[in-house]
Amino acid sequence: MARLPIGELAGWHLMVSCGACRDERIVSINRLVDRYGPAPTLVQIVPRLRCAGARCRQPPILVKLRNRFPVHPGPPLVEIFLVDTRPAPR
Ligand SMILES: [Zn+2]
Repeated sequence: MARLPIGELAGWHLMVSCGACRDERIVSINRLVDRYGPAPTLVQIVPRLRCAGARCRQPPILVKLRNRFPVHPGPPLVEIFLVDTRPAPR
């Protein structure tokens, strides 16, 4: 999935979590298409993601790709971990 052009992931979204300031946000793929066009892949875009907190700007520790919001009805939930550098629980 991460190697498909983002134009083929219309309607999907990213859950992006910052480890530094705990910011969590949803980034719709459609918005990424508006910004970068349909051709790039998530393999190209995800490493460029930074926290939107004005003074944070850290790379995310967790990025999940989802086909829909878990609370909404719809097809089976697909959730793909693209980045996960969270420290292991102890
Ligand atoms: Zn942050």
